[in-house]
Amino acid sequence: MSGAAEPVIGDCDFGRILDGKLLAQPVWRLLTMSPQAAKSVASVLGTEPQQRLATSPEQLEVVAEKASLRVLIEDPGRLTAQMKLWDSRGLAHHCDGRVFLSPEADAGHPCACPPTMVERRARARRGQGPQPVTTLLFRLAECPDVGSFRFRSSSWRFAETVEGIRTQLATVGDPALCELALQSVEFATQNSRRVCYHKPVVRVLGSWASNSAMGLVT
Ligand SMILES: [Zn+2]
Repeated sequence: MSGAAEPVIGDCDFGRILDGKLLAQPVWRLLTMSPQAAKSVASVLGTEPQQRLATSPEQLEVVAEKASLRVLIEDPGRLTAQMKLWDSRGLAHHCDGRVFLSPEADAGHPCACPPTMVERRARARRGQGPQPVTTLLFRLAECPDVGSFRFRSSSWRFAETVEGIRTQLATVGDPALCELALQSVEFATQNSRRVCYHKPVVRVLGSWASNSAMGLVT
């Protein structure tokens, strides 16, 4: 399985879309233009593909009625953290937190973003610094041959975990069996309103090969 060069078969997101509105529910959605992929994914998740978006009728959605998916992540390179700041002229700052990634002339040069996520977040809040764009490419553990899905997130909390996950993936050294899950976080605002949101998390469970050998994945 050499997934890196293979095209992405679809996107992944969370929450449920109902009447065009996104409901904050702990469920994953997989979106693909491939009827075959949608069918395979729906069959392992025990559901049916749906055509939800009137604007893009060729896009099929498969909703996993659960907060966690067993996934295969081939190597740490499948999880990338970029930072982007847009202004009226377009992409004004594009980096990885340390060096510029674009435009080509600046690529590789220090971008002057602060070293810690806390400082970066404070700058972004003031509109002075870029926001995270984290991308994870994965395969579903139950149907890895269908192809790779892409999960993109602008969550600071998810971005903060990227380095740790990449280290764990590097430690495994081989393709890894992981869990892509949604953690419910609840807190009270200053005016005592209770707020609940879902935070994406990746748990590295171990090497794909050893888990397959033990029959933990089929
Ligand atoms: Zn930067």
